[in-house]
Amino acid sequence: DYLTKALTRRGLNQALAEFEEKFKSTKEDYVILFFDIDHFKNVNDTYGHHAGDVILSTIAQFLTSHAEKDDIVGRFGGEEFILLKHLTSVKKAFAFADNIRATIAKSTFVYEKQKLKITISGGIALRSSSKTQQDAVELADSYTYEAKHSGRNKILPTS
Ligand code: GH3
Ligand code: MG
Ligand code: MG
Repeated sequence: DYLTKALTRRGLNQALAEFEEKFKSTKEDYVILFFDIDHFKNVNDTYGHHAGDVILSTIAQFLTSHAEKDDIVGRFGGEEFILLKHLTSVKKAFAFADNIRATIAKSTFVYEKQKLKITISGGIALRSSSKTQQDAVELADSYTYEAKHSGRNKILPTS
């Protein structure tokens, strides 16, 4: 993706297909981590669209820098990202994702000498806990929605 340096939606779909193929042939499980920037519209409204673009690419870089070998980071939509990771439990995924969340929350972002605080919310789904990959993506999305509605700056479920 030109703006964020993460995979585009098309690249992400390709990676989703590859993870799924491997899951079906070798039973290698994986987690789908869904991340959405909190109150991002406020960033655009307060600091302008260009500030929003800069924050978006910084968050994407945060995610890609935390990603390990074989992980995939892609831009799912406007300010939504998916990270695919070979893990076998929600608990481990939570530890990984919550560390990213906390690191972002304690960082200060600077745009044209103005200091901004940014938080993200996210959801986790373990592939083997859902019937289809699409169900797992939807589950991770719905947990993100739940995180939003219970205060934001949060990853769900915790285990
Ligand atoms: P919430 O905490 O509930 O996620 O609130 P939100 O404002 O982040 O959520 P909402 O989905 O209502 O708004 C997302 C905003 O993200 C709206 C849109 O203008 C902005 N956005 C999406 N893509 C881009 C982009 O590429 N650049 C910029 N600057 N803004 C974007
Ligand atoms: Mg959104
Ligand atoms: Mg948002």
